[in-house]
Amino acid sequence: MITRRNRLIGVEVSLYEMPEEDPECRWQTDCSHGNCVGHRTKKLAMSFLAVPWEWCEECSALHEAKTKGAAESSPGASAAAASGGVQG
Ligand SMILES: [Zn+2]
Repeated sequence: MITRRNRLIGVEVSLYEMPEEDPECRWQTDCSHGNCVGHRTKKLAMSFLAVPWEWCEECSALHEAKTKGAAESSPGASAAAASGGVQG
């Protein structure tokens, strides 16, 4: 098993070999949020290990916050805020 701490988002990600699994997902990556993905080769898994935001929603949100500086607002419910209070 390989465990690394992603420098950009500060999340620990691990690589496991699962010999009993389907060859298509023998190499599995997981992050500290409990999400995991299977990969066919170790090389492929290593490439995914470096970019947890590609396969974990929570890591993706962290990555967006790091790269964009602010989280995006949730879609669908923004009209109510348009006509309302005045901030002093
Ligand atoms: Zn994650």
